[in-house]
Amino acid sequence: MKTASSFVMLLFTAGTVLAQVKQDPIQAADLKRDLYRMADDYFRGREAGTLDELKASVWLAEEARKAGLEPAGEDGTYFQFFPLIRERVSTRSTITIGSRSFVLWKDAIVYEPSFAAVHAPLVFVDDPATVTDAAVNGKVVALQFSDKGINDPRVHVPMRYGAIVISFWAKKLAAKGAKAIVFVSDDLADKVWARGSEYANRGSYQIEGSLFHRQLLNGIPIIWLKKEALDLVRTPNQQVDAQIFSENFTYPSVNVVAKVKGSDPKLANEYVLFSGHQDHDGVRNITPGKDSIFNGADDNATVSVALLAIGRAFHQKPGKRSALFVWHGAEERGLFGSTWFADHPLVPREAIVAVLNGDMIGNNAPDSAALLGVVPPHRSSADLVNIALRENEKGLRFKLDTAWDKASHPEGWYFRSDHFPYAKKNIPALFFSSLPHPLYHTPGDEAASINIEKLTKITRWMYATGFAVANAAQRPRLEPGFQLER
Ligand SMILES: [Zn+2]
Repeated sequence: MKTASSFVMLLFTAGTVLAQVKQDPIQAADLKRDLYRMADDYFRGREAGTLDELKASVWLAEEARKAGLEPAGEDGTYFQFFPLIRERVSTRSTITIGSRSFVLWKDAIVYEPSFAAVHAPLVFVDDPATVTDAAVNGKVVALQFSDKGINDPRVHVPMRYGAIVISFWAKKLAAKGAKAIVFVSDDLADKVWARGSEYANRGSYQIEGSLFHRQLLNGIPIIWLKKEALDLVRTPNQQVDAQIFSENFTYPSVNVVAKVKGSDPKLANEYVLFSGHQDHDGVRNITPGKDSIFNGADDNATVSVALLAIGRAFHQKPGKRSALFVWHGAEERGLFGSTWFADHPLVPREAIVAVLNGDMIGNNAPDSAALLGVVPPHRSSADLVNIALRENEKGLRFKLDTAWDKASHPEGWYFRSDHFPYAKKNIPALFFSSLPHPLYHTPGDEAASINIEKLTKITRWMYATGFAVANAAQRPRLEPGFQLER
């Protein structure tokens, strides 16, 4: 009975295929489709506080609704809005050295917002390490960029050079009585000047209760000029006249919040929180004529679409505990969405049993990944770490990097994503990442650069970890004496 037996075989094969599809609710095709949409130029880089971030948030909420997730934001919506306070240097500001006037952002960066009227003589300093207080007190101090005397290894990362050199010298010179500090580029600083201008012109951001204060100096202007100004600032006996104004305003950023209710009547009151951020760096004209949209495909469209996929999986098959999904806003401006949610949680804070955060999970070597929150003092819960490591061992078998989790790592990577405000409130937390790469925070971080297979695998890992936590008999215990160094 050949026909019949092949028919049986066919049924059997079809059944196996169906069973396999069912077994793996996280599908690469879904992730790829969503990633290409979210990292499209249409969302213009999703900068916090802009309509672009709101547009991306509305898209995410709509996708969450389609995935079968319930709204868990405020007033029955998917949204939790919060006020983002922004202060920036006003273009009314004027800077004159000798007889030359500088145009803000075009040939002069005012590094951070301030209010100041400066009318003082200029002194050029060759070696800021040895200059005396008397030489700079009451004057505008000019110096050229250099890595000399700076031990921080990040000083050699071009993208970091400006900020590291400025923060190293600005405070020291201000303490000696400088009225303003003028940094003039060397070759390397000149290469990153346009980028510096595009970041500084945004100003600084705060929310009530924020964990970071980014202002270096209060009221003493820090000015960064291009290398072409070097001869001018070296010319003796010059006067600096500068009027620096700032302006501030408040506008909304938003967290998108959704959930899948747990199947156990009692445990459904507890939540496994899946976390990512939906914002990125917007539009910045760093190289004229080149791509100006920072699509943030890896950072952090990868995790945003991973959360949608994990949401679909939980909707298909809920855990005993509930799954809560938070796409945080304004992460790039200072972890503001997560700081806000941790301060104003929409479920009781003690009901959050674990935070599984991801940031950038689709780049670097296909078999490598990092799990942060594993190495003490960042290990908030050994129970949670063991679940995640066990799920990795079951088959994904990423080679796990541990260096970036260490307290001694110069990048302080553990502190730079959305699990941190939760861990700070003693909620067990893990951070999944495939770590930075050359396209990090550049317009080149586009969907085409993402390894979809790797994205799929890390998404499966986050899902498997969360599903195991959702079904565990006991919630993960906080590490006794857990205390972060920041
Ligand atoms: Zn990020």
